Amino acid sequence: MSHVVGRFAPTPSGRMHLGNVFAALIAWLSVRSQGGSLVLRMEDLDTQRTSSDFAQILRDDLLWLGLHWDEETAPQSQRTAVYDRYFEKLMDEGLLYPCYCTRSQLHSVNAPHLSDGTYVYPGTCRNLKNPPADRRPAWRVIVPDREWQLTDLVQGDYSLNLATGCGDMVVRRADGVYVYQLAVTVDDGEAGVTEVVRGMDLLSSAPRQMYLQETLGFHHPVYGHVPMLLAPDGRRLSKRDKDLDLGVLRQRLKPEELIGTLAFAAGLIDAHIPISAAELASVFDWQKLRGDAIYLDSASL
Ligand code: GLU
Repeated sequence: MSHVVGRFAPTPSGRMHLGNVFAALIAWLSVRSQGGSLVLRMEDLDTQRTSSDFAQILRDDLLWLGLHWDEETAPQSQRTAVYDRYFEKLMDEGLLYPCYCTRSQLHSVNAPHLSDGTYVYPGTCRNLKNPPADRRPAWRVIVPDREWQLTDLVQGDYSLNLATGCGDMVVRRADGVYVYQLAVTVDDGEAGVTEVVRGMDLLSSAPRQMYLQETLGFHHPVYGHVPMLLAPDGRRLSKRDKDLDLGVLRQRLKPEELIGTLAFAAGLIDAHIPISAAELASVFDWQKLRGDAIYLDSASL
């Protein structure tokens, strides 16, 4: 079997919450159980919301959990020149066009939405004759009318036609900042990532990234989108749930207790017992991982 390279790509915009811990844990378990290596990357494209202090706390939290990485690649905020090169490649292939649509145009009630509320860009600026001279444009990549299919390690078969389910995608914003989809594709591709494990909320990003991988000359990784952790009322746990962020949980629990609770709730172990990440790696099996949402509250911890 070829060498597995996994990654954990947190956004250092606050303390990790349980959902982030869970995704990091599964990414780590999968890699370790296959004798592979793990890359850590700080996704700090949004420099307003992220900081190097949060990045440092994040590293410390991962080590406390026993989830070590083999290499940390440069944070996204330092890789603009690299993204420029791939942007030029898309430009040379005639796949980019400037888009002057304003936020309010894009979000107006008349804008096309799918039944689930997803906005589909209708290609308004694709053949623009008279672009406004007084504004910097965003740049969009033309997407093909074709189905992108994957077999997710947790969610099974999934497919999306980007033309009908998404529309031409922004790759660089009007303020010059590259968007997540492009940066992730380039970073995962250049780091030789073969396995992407992350939260279920990013499943529909996989076909977007597969398209960019193909266009930019990278291999497709294997994907595993792990279930979301929900509060008992069905709300997604987020950085706003302060009682479930690691700052609070580290004061109450040992790492083995936290990992044991997550592993039990996810179906990885049969009893609610403390267990270390290293012990769990020796019994980890993708088949046991539940695919549906996992309900947790502070009382179960
Ligand atoms: N940076 C994203 C997050 O923290 C994860 C992106 C990814 O794993 O592709 O939610």
